[in-house]
Amino acid sequence: MKCIIGAKILLPNATVEGKALLFDKKIIGIVSEEEIPADAEVISADGGYVAPGLVDVHIHGYLNEDVSDGNADGIRKMAEGIIKNGVTTFLPTTMTVSMDELGVALDAARSLMEESVSWNGAYIAGVHAEGPFINENKKGAQAAEHIKLPDADWVIKNKDIIRLCTIAPETEGGYEAIKKIRENSDVRVSVGHTDATFEEAMKAFECGATHITHLFNAQTPLHHRKPGVVGAGLASGAYTELIADTFHVHPGLFQMVANCKGDKLVLITDCTRAGGMPDGEYTLGGQKIFVKGIKCLLEDGTIAGSVLKLNEAVKNVKAHTDLPLHEVVAAASLNPANAIGIGDRKGSLEVGKDADIIITDVNFDIKKTIIQGEIRYEA
Ligand SMILES: [Zn+2]
Repeated sequence: MKCIIGAKILLPNATVEGKALLFDKKIIGIVSEEEIPADAEVISADGGYVAPGLVDVHIHGYLNEDVSDGNADGIRKMAEGIIKNGVTTFLPTTMTVSMDELGVALDAARSLMEESVSWNGAYIAGVHAEGPFINENKKGAQAAEHIKLPDADWVIKNKDIIRLCTIAPETEGGYEAIKKIRENSDVRVSVGHTDATFEEAMKAFECGATHITHLFNAQTPLHHRKPGVVGAGLASGAYTELIADTFHVHPGLFQMVANCKGDKLVLITDCTRAGGMPDGEYTLGGQKIFVKGIKCLLEDGTIAGSVLKLNEAVKNVKAHTDLPLHEVVAAASLNPANAIGIGDRKGSLEVGKDADIIITDVNFDIKKTIIQGEIRYEA
């Protein structure tokens, strides 16, 4: 048994001080320091924070690797790299590439899923297929030539590995596909890369979609007489992804989005292979991207993913809102875990859940990452 002392412990609805967090492979409980068992291994947080391991449901790449390359070693390198940013669970995210390339990428993730339960990296909870079932008018940085009409049977055939699938509901057969996927699998459907009206997006939710891909980006904007997908995202109970790098979305909107979404706000990175790498030229789903500072752009200036780290997203939202840190952290841990249906075992420091824990300093820089009770990273 291990215990962490000297920390501000971030729970879903509160920050607890002056207590100790007890765990083995699972979270055992929060006790007073006098109640720590004599044989427990004591870890000091040195006055920093103890938080649940972060959960990233939208990440394409890291350390020059890209999920769409279809290379298992590359996904492994990503998993090992992102634990340094406090991420302990992720959905490797594919782009709109050819169906053959997608099949290879799904196989690569599939081959690692079991091993990832206890390896030296973040756990693979499945894949987020961002495309190919999107609208060309809102393709963003996705490759137009590989866009397909929604194919529920393909998703259902891969339901063992696909956990979240982004679909443009207004495309031919979109609503039927969403219904069929929800009736025949546990795959969550996200509305994204879409030209849908407000009404069409709401219809997608009625058909079973529960999620919105990177709010504001690659979707119809908010107009007061034409509220678009953004309006539907803010007005509905759907889980709503936000890229809080301060570039994709103006930080002046963070508070409003958080107020609208509450525990349905999901911070993501949308990180590309340029994440964790120096500025320069990279690729995303086969297209050239140019990276400088926090910006990733295609040659024509289209925004193409990010180099955001999930703990940096937490810091950005904290800096631009008056939310308590535990609430911001929940948007990068419990909310995404719930969004993909694994909130019963991941995403918070509640008794009985997997002991996926991060220790940070007061600035939320990662000091230690613990997965299933084992220290897997130390700064
Ligand atoms: Zn993306």
